[in-house]
Amino acid sequence: MAKQRPATRAIRVQTKKTAQKEHSTPLFLTSSFTYDSAEDMAAAFASDSPEVNIYSRFSNPGVDEFVNKIASLEGAESGVATGTGMAAIFSTFMTFLSKGDHIVSASAVFGSTHTILTKYLPKWGIDYSYFDMNKPETIEPLIRPATKLLYLETPSNPGLDIIDLELVAAICKKHKVLLVVDNCFATPAVQQPIRFGADLVLHSATKFIDGQGRVLGGVIVGRKELVHPLYLFIRNTGPSMSPFNAWVLSKSLETLFVRMDRHAASALELATKLQGHAKISSVKYPFLESHPQYAIAQKQMTNGGGIVTFELKGGVESGRKFLNALQLISMTNNLGDSRTIASHPASTTHSKLTESERQSVGITPGLIRISVGLEDLADIMDDLLQALDQS
Ligand SMILES: *Cc1c(COP(=O)(O)O)cnc(C)c1O
Repeated sequence: MAKQRPATRAIRVQTKKTAQKEHSTPLFLTSSFTYDSAEDMAAAFASDSPEVNIYSRFSNPGVDEFVNKIASLEGAESGVATGTGMAAIFSTFMTFLSKGDHIVSASAVFGSTHTILTKYLPKWGIDYSYFDMNKPETIEPLIRPATKLLYLETPSNPGLDIIDLELVAAICKKHKVLLVVDNCFATPAVQQPIRFGADLVLHSATKFIDGQGRVLGGVIVGRKELVHPLYLFIRNTGPSMSPFNAWVLSKSLETLFVRMDRHAASALELATKLQGHAKISSVKYPFLESHPQYAIAQKQMTNGGGIVTFELKGGVESGRKFLNALQLISMTNNLGDSRTIASHPASTTHSKLTESERQSVGITPGLIRISVGLEDLADIMDDLLQALDQS
């Protein structure tokens, strides 16, 4: 049979059936696996392959199914799962960076990623430099002989900045630097960074991959020679994914393509309708022509994803009034949920940054981030518009 298309693989990549011939994958809640003989057990322990099930910190059939699906959707050879998105990010840094090394990162990264770069890596003698997502020409001068890794999110959280992956990958290739992309905002249904030259792609599976705000998870995919040392780091240090979470996440992937289409269609319509609203000074969405990197978004994404941001003219005070007036939309800092969520990054996810650091990554006092859910768009709009009236 011809190679299945991605939306089919998101459903049909499945663990080998057990003797029960089940249709859907069972939940493999077992901490360890057994052997038929002492020789088999000795051979399993002698191997460092993720394909031999020994202990669920090392591998588990349900976790493998989830990883194989993501790797297949991202166009990667191999992958490894972690308990959270931050565990995926931290494990990647710990595996590929040593004392004396240097990392070049976009300054507009998830709040906890910023904390790892600025507070923890320096403790182990690993230095970092930040570049502005809107100035890709500033990247190359930051690369030093000690630079091992370049890290970015596109679209970024929460500013929705977009960078040309092909251009960054060419710089990384020239200087033999690993390009690691956090693809959390797009998901592999919308963007596959490996196609544009990324070496490793990672996710917080907690967001659109789960898609229903139920479990935490992370995953990293790429070439076998890069994933294997990551696998060994995770197997030995323990930030592994739980079999239950993997079961939920693999099930969630069956609806990823349908969900992302609906998230993006609603987000584009919502963003279009909010443009020019009297209380709003600007609206940002990757597939709005007014987005500064609209052409790049069109090149590397199949739709604009599920996140829209806007700036309230009234600043912080207006932002508080807006959140307090919401009736349907949830006030929480998660994203990528079936329920629409509003957040105010300056007082939540990015509260640990200084005011000037927030300014430098485009987080203004009145910035509202909407993770557009799967409810009827008319209900989402009704709530947004009445809350804007009161802001
Ligand atoms: C949420 C998030 C993370 C962290 O993931 P957790 O699963 O919460 O640990 C990393 N990157 C981005 C872009 C995120 O939105």
